Amino acid sequence: MSLAKRVKPHIAALEPYQPGKPIEALERELGIQDSVKLASNESPCGPSPRAVAALREALDSVHRYPDGASFELRSSLAQRLEVGPDQLVFGCGCDELLELLAKAFLGPGDEVVYAWPSFAMYPIVVQGMGATSLRVPLDAEMVHDLDAMAAAVTPRTRIVIVCNPNNPTGTSVGAEAFERFATSLPDDVVLVVDEAYVEYVRRPDFPDARSWVERRPGTAVLRTFSKIHGLAGLRIGYAIADPELASYLERARHPFNVNRLAEVAALAALDDQEHLERARRINREGIAYLERELRALGFEVWPSDANFLLVRVGWDVYEPLLREGVIVRPMAAFGLEDCVRLSVGLPEENERCVKALRRLLEARRQEDA
Ligand SMILES: *Cc1c(COP(=O)(O)O)cnc(C)c1O
Repeated sequence: MSLAKRVKPHIAALEPYQPGKPIEALERELGIQDSVKLASNESPCGPSPRAVAALREALDSVHRYPDGASFELRSSLAQRLEVGPDQLVFGCGCDELLELLAKAFLGPGDEVVYAWPSFAMYPIVVQGMGATSLRVPLDAEMVHDLDAMAAAVTPRTRIVIVCNPNNPTGTSVGAEAFERFATSLPDDVVLVVDEAYVEYVRRPDFPDARSWVERRPGTAVLRTFSKIHGLAGLRIGYAIADPELASYLERARHPFNVNRLAEVAALAALDDQEHLERARRINREGIAYLERELRALGFEVWPSDANFLLVRVGWDVYEPLLREGVIVRPMAAFGLEDCVRLSVGLPEENERCVKALRRLLEARRQEDA
């Protein structure tokens, strides 16, 4: 008997997530060294030294199960965020929190509204439950069209996701538009605000999604230690929600979904304000440098509140850049073949990327001449 007849059709039809190419893979394939990876929005500043020290100390106890309640991390974070400990849910990355939301609220026939292009995990978790995605195109400025998203909500809508700032465009929505949107949603629709990049935000009128957890029960704000905290390899993220919504996600998770090392490192990273400030500054300066240089080369660059830029180069530059030892994220999967998403690196990495792009541009001009 073939399993093809038994596997759930919506699982068989899933297109697996395409992660950024690891540096090791590129160097192996091309036989090169010293390549730079600006493809996965990882922190170029690495993890906090305090987190690394805490990890070293924790290594000898990995024979013990983690604290399934993440007591210390929960207490520390709850205090910082001024929420109750019962308003936090930890997961194996933000990705798992998306899955828990899907597991708790979605089945065949249910709908999820989100913008597109946006985070490529959304369609995967929705389809994973046999539910249906309603993708609402970004507006002409590549910003969430919240009015159109509100209009897309139907009686079958169970979850609405706002990715703010949005991946892969870096654009964000302001407090006023968000308020209009959040107040218009029916009470029984779960509002998910994915704030994976919130620590990088610069716009002064950025919505305070955390306060919406108080104002509108049924709201979950997702955050991660993968981006500015530099702990992507450990896999830990969290949701802030009202106690009722949090309790459903708690029921849906595995008891030890967050590993011991991740708990220890996250706790230490929270305390390292200096590292956080440095990462923020390196990013701010990197964004300014890249915007200036890329526009000078004639490329279109969208304004970004995150640690990456969406760049319209004008042709498919992903493979040529790989051969220059620069890994960026191709945007062809979003129908943006002439664009790439570029994560901000250290100054020398950003310069490598700009120089490679300049070389490719000049070579192309010479070919045309
Ligand atoms: C990176 C990212 C996440 C979080 O990823 P995890 O590593 O699973 O915590 C969530 N949402 C968006 C939009 C992201 O870009």
